Order: sequence, then C-alpha cells, then structure tokens
Amino acid sequence: MKIAIIGGGIGGLTAALALLRQGFEVTVFEQAPELREVGAGVQVSANGTRILFALGLQEAIMSVACEAGGKEIRLWNTGQTWKLFDLGPQSVARYGFPYITIHRNDLHQVLAAGIRRIAPDAIKLGMRCEGIDQTAKGVSIRFTDGATVSADIAIGADGVHSAVRDALFGADKPKFTGIVAWRGVIPAERLPKHLLRPVGTNWIGPGGHVIHYLLRRGELMNYVSVVERSDWQVESWSVAGTVDECLADYQGWNEDVHTLIKSMDTPYKWALMLRQPMEQWTRGRITLLGDACHPTLPFLAQGAVMAIEDGFVLGRALAKYRDAPEAGLLAYENTRRERTTRIVRGAENNLGRFHNPALAHADTAEAYVNAEWEESKVKERYEWLFTYDATSVPLRPATVSAQAS
Ligand code: FAD
Repeated sequence: MKIAIIGGGIGGLTAALALLRQGFEVTVFEQAPELREVGAGVQVSANGTRILFALGLQEAIMSVACEAGGKEIRLWNTGQTWKLFDLGPQSVARYGFPYITIHRNDLHQVLAAGIRRIAPDAIKLGMRCEGIDQTAKGVSIRFTDGATVSADIAIGADGVHSAVRDALFGADKPKFTGIVAWRGVIPAERLPKHLLRPVGTNWIGPGGHVIHYLLRRGELMNYVSVVERSDWQVESWSVAGTVDECLADYQGWNEDVHTLIKSMDTPYKWALMLRQPMEQWTRGRITLLGDACHPTLPFLAQGAVMAIEDGFVLGRALAKYRDAPEAGLLAYENTRRERTTRIVRGAENNLGRFHNPALAHADTAEAYVNAEWEESKVKERYEWLFTYDATSVPLRPATVSAQAS
C-alpha cells in the first residue's frame, strides 16, 4: 500500500515513521523547501515520550532534550511560588516515561533521521498540496508546481490551515479568542542562575500567563506567554513582534518576567483561535491527523503530543486492516476522536483558570490557587493525559454508521 502524507510537521513525521516501521511504503510531501521548525520549544509529556521511545528514538531524543524536574506556579507580580507537581524521576516512576522539554527543530531532526534510516527518499520538500481527489481505488494529490501524485491512501497532516481538511469538509470557522501568544528562545547564558532551574514555570495573572522551560540540555530557555488583547488576529508564527511590544503587554509583572522578555532577540506572536472539535475527519481513503483535525488551545500542552499519539495509532490501525485501508482509517479515527475532543475542551477550560481576576491581588490569589490547584484537582486534570498508552489502547473497529455520517 502506498501512503502519501501531506505535511512534514511533528505529526506527519511521527506517522511516517510509525507506518514505515509497520512495513508500508510512505512518502511525506512538505511544502517548506527545507525541513526546519521555527525556533521554539515543545513540552512532551510521558504519553508522548512513550511513543517516541517505542519508535526507537529514545537515545537520540534524550541526547538533545531536557527533563523537567517538576512544574510550579508563580504569581504574576509578587513572584510567590507554589509547587504544582514533581516530574523528573517521578514521571518515570509513575507513568513509565519521562516528561521532556525539547526544541522543535531537534525533535524534527530526530524524527526525520529515523525516517531516512528506513527510507532515505521518503521526505519530499518544496511540495505544497493544493487539492486532493479520490475514487474507490485511490487518491490523487495536486501540488502547486503542477505535479500530481497518486497513492492508495492519503493523510492530511498539514496543520491548522489544512488544505486537505478544506478539500474534504470545506473551510473551517475559527473564532478569535481575544488572546495573543508570544514565543521566543533565549540563550541560557543571558539569564540569571535562579531562572535556570530545570522546572516548568507557569506565571499566572489577571489577563495573561507566562511559561518558561529549558531546552537542548539546558543551553536554551523557551519563553511562551499569552495576553488578552484583540488588536492582533494573524494565526501564524511568520510575523515577528518586538521586545518593546511584548514588554508593554506585561506591565506591572515581576522583574523575572521582564528579564526573560528583554533577553529575547525576536519574539514572535500568534493569535489564538478557537475551533469546535470535528465530528468526523475521515472520508474514504483520506484522513486527517494532528492540528489538521483537532487544533487546540495550548493550555494543556498536548497539541503536538496528540499528533504524536495519532501517528502511532494510525500505524497500528492500518497494520491491522492491511487489506481494507478504508476500514483502517476509520478505526484510527474512532480510536482517537473521544480523547482528542476531551483534550480540546480541557484546554479551553484552562483559559479561565489561568487568567482569573482573583489573581490580581496577592490576598485573593492565595486562596484561589490553593483551591484550583489542590492536589486531587490537579490529578484529575492531568493523570488521564499522562497515563494514556497509544501503543496498546484497544482499536475501536470501523463502524458502518461512522462511515455513513
Ligand atoms: P504542524 O506542526 O503545523 O505541521 C504541519 C506541517 O504541514 C508543516 O510542516 C507545514 O509546513 C506543512 N504544510 C502545511 N500546509 C501544507 C500543504 N498545503 N502542503 C504541504 N505541506 C503543508 N503542543 C504540545 O504538545 N506541547 C506544547 O508545549 C505546545 N506548546 C504550544 C505553544 C503554543 C503557543 C502553540 C500555539 C502551540 C503549542 N503546542 C504544543 C501545539 C503544537 O504546536 C501543535 O499541536 C503541533 O505543532 C501540531 O503538529 P502538526 O504536525 O499537526 O502540525
């Protein structure tokens, strides 16, 4: 079976590797002229590292990642700190796998090297998909350079602005959240020692929050923050902002936050959009994966991890239904839809929690944080995420009703 994957992001590359390891013939078509992720980090919880390790990437990943020792919350103005939970050895003891923070480009390169070891020419660059058709026998993919490629099945892993999703289901209807995200990467040597502890830190305040964690063996600090403002509605990292503009969004915040912002060369901004989970994302011989079918607000740090899980489950489903690829695609979607929908909704719920007005003053903040981040509540919010095992979760068979809907 020939499988075409459109999009060589984290999801597309993970799917490619999982499918190659199941013995399929796979080609990834990526629009970018070179395989490179923009400068930023990503957190990969145990449910994601479980998959990366199952794909044979443990050594390569751990040689470039950082292991977060834990997570903490800090109050936007006073810097008061609350421990959220331990990770590091605790993550391994509890979930079997580490919680890592990794530069996106490092993760990309490790995935690409894994693919090329099996199939050196599997990744085709500079191939932008502009349309896709299917018959009962196969799919035909059109590219902007005029090329057409045939395959038995196709996977749209082409991100939040997916051309494949548009072709299958029509344009989506995103709603602006009124929130803008900033991000950038800082060389560790620019920062004071006390900011370089290997913990994931989440500053929370009224109308915004700031997250930072180490990358690349501690050589880099990843900065991500969000702020409520409505004057920027471009959903892309391609536009750079300025340090002054970012600083202006965090007036009155703790000096540590200002130090981080001032240490960035170029902060990039992205308008956060809200989309309702799709009820269906497979049609015949074409399916979707990752942000193409379940884009999420980043407030559970599970977008890329969901794409990684998708890729592995897709490999298992197609291997199980080797002679019936359409049934395999439906089994993949049926297995993944409930979990991904729950994550998208859970991330949306975190928005009100992180930006609550009670955080404005230290006296009301204390009671609010103690109640909202009380141990049992934290466990309820995160445990089901980290314990999920995409390598063994039972595949939900394809149902006729799902195909007909
Ligand atoms: P993408 O990464 O968008 O990849 C899509 C690929 O398809 C790209 O390479 C693109 O060039 C290519 N492409 C697009 N269109 C075409 C076309 N027409 N033809 C060919 N190729 C095409 N997730 C986490 O798990 N942990 C985190 O800590 C985290 N932090 C985040 C912080 C922020 C501020 C944001 C906004 C998101 C965060 N996420 C995080 C979410 C994560 O970034 C995404 O969910 C993840 O990148 C999705 O991967 P993907 O492969 O589905 O899509």
